[in-house]
Amino acid sequence: MKVLVIGGGGREHALAWKLAQSERVQRVYVAPGNGGTATDPALHNLPLHTPHELADFAQAEKIALTVVGPEAPLAAGVVDVFRARGLRIFGPTRAAAQLESSKAYAKEFMQRHGIPTALYATFTSAAEAHAHVDKHGAPIVIKADGLAAGKGVVVAMTLAEAHAAIDDMLVANTLGVQHNVEGARVVIEEFMQGEEASFIVLCDGKNVLTLATSQDHKRIGEGDTGPNTGGMGAYSPAPVVTPDVHARVMREIVHPTIAGMAKDGVQYTGFLYAGLMIDAQGHPRTVEFNCRLGDPEAQVILMRLKSDLFEVLMHATDGTLDQVELQWDRRSALGVVMAAHGYPAAPRKGDAISGLPAGTADLQVFHAGTTLDGGVLQTSGGRVLCVTALGDSVRLAQQAALTAVRQIQFDGAQWRNDIGHCAIRH
Ligand code: ATP
Repeated sequence: MKVLVIGGGGREHALAWKLAQSERVQRVYVAPGNGGTATDPALHNLPLHTPHELADFAQAEKIALTVVGPEAPLAAGVVDVFRARGLRIFGPTRAAAQLESSKAYAKEFMQRHGIPTALYATFTSAAEAHAHVDKHGAPIVIKADGLAAGKGVVVAMTLAEAHAAIDDMLVANTLGVQHNVEGARVVIEEFMQGEEASFIVLCDGKNVLTLATSQDHKRIGEGDTGPNTGGMGAYSPAPVVTPDVHARVMREIVHPTIAGMAKDGVQYTGFLYAGLMIDAQGHPRTVEFNCRLGDPEAQVILMRLKSDLFEVLMHATDGTLDQVELQWDRRSALGVVMAAHGYPAAPRKGDAISGLPAGTADLQVFHAGTTLDGGVLQTSGGRVLCVTALGDSVRLAQQAALTAVRQIQFDGAQWRNDIGHCAIRH
């Protein structure tokens, strides 16, 4: 059978790599893919982008299953286009994907359905937003309403930072957020204290299957300092999600969300990602929802998944996830992101990459911002590679990943040496 993966980041490289391992899969296409999927003989890149181009290809090539990686095609309605043509695709519809594409919608949804999250208010007027911040004080969190690749959020530790963020988002739009139809809006939230974790489930419309837990590292700098990024590294499992916390997340967040969507007339199918903040008492609250796998969480989760992903996703699109039990590698997986010079503000492109180790069962280099130019592998985006290793402990997985990272070379490479520090402390 033939499979199509939509996207071109590290998450999509990992999805394609995992799907290609299935005995039932003969060919995996990645649209548009990257330099890593271009050089992997098991994968085939396609220069296709729009939902209709992709659906035309899937129809002509008799693609058995299409899997959507990133948020943008979901928000553009790719699932709706495929379904209208009777093509099998795994992901939420455009209506369901609003849970991620609009922070204002998501917050209003959580409030209406009693799902624990930070207190918030929404503003289109900069004057009113400034007044709100003055009233509540810092720390406080300012979020642009719209997709911003993880860069539309400012956790302001001072009032000055909060005011500057409001002006950026409502007046200058220097972050380049893709606004929703209503125009520029910000969500201002109460600052939540605690440890973050990523909790991702598969939904088939009725049944929910949980994936292994993981933890991302949002900040560019070691010790969780500096600006937010798309994610600088991850590991799985996350010990902060104890069995107790796991049960609470399912009861208080995941099930009410799926049920709330159904009540609102939207059947949720696809990956559902709850970004959690877990306080010292083990009380989980929702930071955000994503309607897809996380990146780099996907890389570490898929590295540990022993089950056949193609079979699992066929069940997910048939509505029979209740027949599936996932098998996991008991070891830890840890991924270190290597980012380009200047990331996240102004990533440089065109640096030649060398020293890539060959992949093994315990070590994989998933590509993101890479491209093949005349046979030379070059950087082409902010996050370039995610070097992912398995180990008997988080520390051993970290050592294996960092050993490989130090062999890989490109000018200006940035990475964190402390990915996994929370788990190592636990
Ligand atoms: P992404 O989709 O890439 O995860 P995003 O742009 O959707 O990011 P959020 O996940 O909402 O943004 O926020 C980014 C990060 O900012 C969070 O992972 C968390 O570290 C921090 N953050 C967001 N909201 C809060 C909050 N209320 N209190 C404390 N920290 C927060």
